[in-house]
Amino acid sequence: MSGSIHVTDETTQPRSWQRRPPYRNAAEGFAAMYTAQCTCGTVAFEVCSDPVDSKLCHCRTCQTLHGAPFQWAVIFHKQHVRFMRGIKDLRFFSAETGRREHTLPCKLSCSVCGSPIADEGRRMFLAFGPLFDFGMPTVVPPAFKPTCHIFYGARIIDMHDSLPKYLGHKGSSP
Ligand SMILES: [Zn+2]
Ligand SMILES: [Zn+2]
Repeated sequence: MSGSIHVTDETTQPRSWQRRPPYRNAAEGFAAMYTAQCTCGTVAFEVCSDPVDSKLCHCRTCQTLHGAPFQWAVIFHKQHVRFMRGIKDLRFFSAETGRREHTLPCKLSCSVCGSPIADEGRRMFLAFGPLFDFGMPTVVPPAFKPTCHIFYGARIIDMHDSLPKYLGHKGSSP
């Protein structure tokens, strides 16, 4: 009996995080600058500012999660992000607990097509750059251009560009 009551609570009452950005964003004057969506279009979000930073991450978690040599994260304050659709289709994964749960920091993906969407931190939203619509042909705005490579020590391929390359987090030894 208590089990059914528990289920009812989960489905009818939004949890505290569902009432805060980026899931609900009541910011006055939120004027979308860029939109982004997953491969199948089920999940979409928009941002009302330029990113505060943009990084290419070569860590093992990003490599395996994305099935790619490295990952491109564009970083926003959570209050500058809001989901347009697909919140109920998001899948959450906590790398710290190894469980499918919304425990910050947490990884978001689309449960329909599997696209990684973002890493959600306590204050920041690390969106994955390729999801943004920059038109066709693609013109990446200057503010989105990556500023560095991080966790370059775990790289699979060498990058021949002029960006700083850190063995670990940004600012760690090159
Ligand atoms: Zn999708
Ligand atoms: Zn990484």
